[in-house]
Amino acid sequence: MPIDATLPYDDANIFARILRGEIPCTRVYEDDHALAFNDINPQAPHHVLVIPTGRYVSWDDFSANASDAEISGFVRAVGAVARAAGLVEPGYRLLANVGGDAHQEVPHLHVHIFGGRPLGPMLA
Ligand code: 5GP
Repeated sequence: MPIDATLPYDDANIFARILRGEIPCTRVYEDDHALAFNDINPQAPHHVLVIPTGRYVSWDDFSANASDAEISGFVRAVGAVARAAGLVEPGYRLLANVGGDAHQEVPHLHVHIFGGRPLGPMLA
């Protein structure tokens, strides 16, 4: 069910529970600013979700309200995860859904990293 990205942060969301260690996941990267784990329903051979450790509903919330340190730490983590997976060459795709029209389902910012096969042209 797509979410309304303008709603306040909900500490019961599934990624908040993953961050607190209440729900298992396959962690591939972790630092002060970010956690990365494999998507439970992968859409490509390599499909990782990178989430900030802070309480942000969406990219909109994060880009407006996170500190410079949180933003730079998160962006660097996304790049580090892709590099560590060997995806820079042949390439990979980043995606962050925001709100209902984009079909964001989990109300904690997540950036998808897709790779491991030719991904084709971007579809809107
Ligand atoms: P969205 O549509 O919000 O951009 O993507 C949500 C993503 O979270 C989906 O790709 C979905 O497979 C993934 N997901 C949902 N619940 C879980 C979960 O409990 N664990 C993991 N690892 N991924 C999840």
